[in-house]
Amino acid sequence: MTHDLPAPHHTVGVRALCEFTAKAGDLDQRFTPAPSAQQGIAGHGVVARRRPPGYLAEVVLVGEHRGLRVRGRADGYCAESRRIDEVKTYRGSLDRMPANHRELHWAQAKVYGWLLCDRFGLEAIEVALVYFEIASQCETVMSERHTAQGLRAFFETQCERFLAWSRQEAAHADARREALHALRFPHPEFRSGQRALSEGVYRAAIARRCLVAQAPTGIGKTVATVFALLKAWPTQAFDKLFFLTAKGTGRAVALDALARLRGSDPTPVIRIVELVARDKACEHPDKACHGDSCPLARGFYDRLPAARQQAIDAPVLDREALRVIARAHQVCPYYLGQEMARWADIVVGDFNHYFDINAILFGLTVAHEWRVALLVDEAHNLLERARAMYSARLARSTLQALRRSAPPDLRRPMERLARRWRELQRGQVDARQPHREVPDRFASALKDVCAAISDHLAEQPAQAEADLLAFHFDALHFLRLVDLMADHSIIDTTVEPAPVGMRRQTTDLAINLRNLVPAPHLRGRFAAAHACTLFSATLTPFAFHCDMLGLPAASAWLDVDSPFSSAQLTVRIADRLSTRYRDRASSLTSIADLMARQLAAAPGNYLAFFSSFDYLQRAIDRFRERHAGITVWAQSRFMTAIERDAFLARFSDDSCGIGFAVLGGSFAEGVDLPGRRLVGAFVATLGLPPPNAVNEALRSRMETDFGAGYAYTYLYPGIQRVVQAAGRVIRTEQDRGIVYLLDDRFARTEVRRLLPRWWSVEPAALPPWNAAASAS
Ligand code: SF4
Repeated sequence: MTHDLPAPHHTVGVRALCEFTAKAGDLDQRFTPAPSAQQGIAGHGVVARRRPPGYLAEVVLVGEHRGLRVRGRADGYCAESRRIDEVKTYRGSLDRMPANHRELHWAQAKVYGWLLCDRFGLEAIEVALVYFEIASQCETVMSERHTAQGLRAFFETQCERFLAWSRQEAAHADARREALHALRFPHPEFRSGQRALSEGVYRAAIARRCLVAQAPTGIGKTVATVFALLKAWPTQAFDKLFFLTAKGTGRAVALDALARLRGSDPTPVIRIVELVARDKACEHPDKACHGDSCPLARGFYDRLPAARQQAIDAPVLDREALRVIARAHQVCPYYLGQEMARWADIVVGDFNHYFDINAILFGLTVAHEWRVALLVDEAHNLLERARAMYSARLARSTLQALRRSAPPDLRRPMERLARRWRELQRGQVDARQPHREVPDRFASALKDVCAAISDHLAEQPAQAEADLLAFHFDALHFLRLVDLMADHSIIDTTVEPAPVGMRRQTTDLAINLRNLVPAPHLRGRFAAAHACTLFSATLTPFAFHCDMLGLPAASAWLDVDSPFSSAQLTVRIADRLSTRYRDRASSLTSIADLMARQLAAAPGNYLAFFSSFDYLQRAIDRFRERHAGITVWAQSRFMTAIERDAFLARFSDDSCGIGFAVLGGSFAEGVDLPGRRLVGAFVATLGLPPPNAVNEALRSRMETDFGAGYAYTYLYPGIQRVVQAAGRVIRTEQDRGIVYLLDDRFARTEVRRLLPRWWSVEPAALPPWNAAASAS
């Protein structure tokens, strides 16, 4: 081998090398879904165990060409037969695999083949692709005989194609290292609490510990946490930093903080890419992601190199920048973003880009063995989001609607599935019926429908109607979760109102797989990160989040002191007033009068939070009846972005009134109304989730697992919502305000313990004419 350079300038994995050099043609997402990472690992294990004694699994191989070091782990080598195996796990029909996927697999196998020949001094070798089908556990083996000389020529060709890019990457890594050493905090000084947070994140990263950091709003958490990890980067040799948020607004804040950290340097010394959901980036929402349907998928990999080269030089690849570049090169902006995540230093994305079952960032981390640092912003939202990611629901009405226009090749399997639905319906005696497992006959019929749809889409790609595709993906997701079913989830069937437009039907039947404890799904995600910080203003109590999210046992807790003082916020508990469900009607007048009295005493803008839209409506009706002269406005269900902006625009420096909103809704967190724009909040109820059958099942599980059924199911999530909502009032060290907690239970010790330490709580006097009527 020739060595033009004295030492390798860059190291690349076999997989990354081949994905760069050997992918051509169309983007094609039909051959889905890939098995989960766990299923993939298990599949590789099954193949290795089937091989004869002496078979070497996971053979570490390294090679070099002109200063480029290539490394990887071959799946297996049998010295007796001189055969190297490249194992690929999949699900479904192998015939559906596009030719360019197969070409890529051969490229990887041949590169490993050369590295193995080089290591063991072999003249020739059998190179095999072993396709392992997860469901049937069957192997399909394709093998070719190659000489070492031929494999070496192939290897060198791939390296040559990558060399210019790899030198650019090596130069980038050097420049990034220097820039990170020189990086300074972007403000003249840290705000109160900001330094403690930043130091805590830095220390945890150096110690490789997961950190759960509770830090108040307004101290600049985003810039503090990102700065800490960038400073830890050189010693920890991170490959990537993932900044994960629950909402699009969180991504905007992160991109803004990163822009400040980068300063005015126009050269992308630190590369940043923003990932958004497919429906936000897609240019052809009516099409499917393959070359037979979408023009931006057709020839995607042929045009990708030029688009990638332009994108790598962009200062920040946010959604708009990606779109502009993708348009110029006629490639899909969504998949261009995913490609650039491989080459970026910092990826700003949603929780689901790392934690979801098919998460791209987690998949890349495992595949490329990246050392990643994770920042999980507004982490109090992760529990509910993760539950949703690992839950699934299928409604009978969806199948019925599809059957009306089903193509002929789908009618019989759909009819069989419809029969299984009818069986479920006949066995349904209650509105909600728990099941120990998904009935075998139902799961089997659902698999048949999925297989038939896959075949149909492969043969009739142009007929990829949105409804059929949506059902297909939902059904596949459901089946994958069925495979992962354990006591972290429950299954039930529920009778629900039929959707509008259903003929002759008033009710629908849904089958639900509901995740209760996402910890078993998330544990591996946290373990795969080299450093991880979860942060939010409300993460109390620590143990609750550790248990529910599956955080490592050695995780650390940091509770940053608030920069705000109790002199800034008056917190009053209406401890003679009950908002329990049975007392709501009788306490509406007291609440209305208390709010009006506060407005008279301290005019300004207030938010009033209620636990449901129904409760909100009753409260605002009563308020209008009694205090018609006070301006009020209300949140409504399904508000558009324009309507939400209009709601918030009513909070101006010189306006006066009350905005009625729901706890846990879009105005209860992430909303900034500093100064006179918001002077107070009223929070009715403890925000407890409703005690329905599902929550009672959760309570029972929480009692069994953690001995804390009520607290884990109701109290902790409820008070978290309350503190988030009340947290809208004080946003800066100049703000002054008042919060009323409207329920006597707020005075209980176990509830008071969950309120922020800096709050100083006092009882609220009710208007004298209401007090007697309200006490429960
Ligand atoms: S533009 Fe839309 S349909 Fe086309 S490949 Fe991209 S995401 Fe898929």
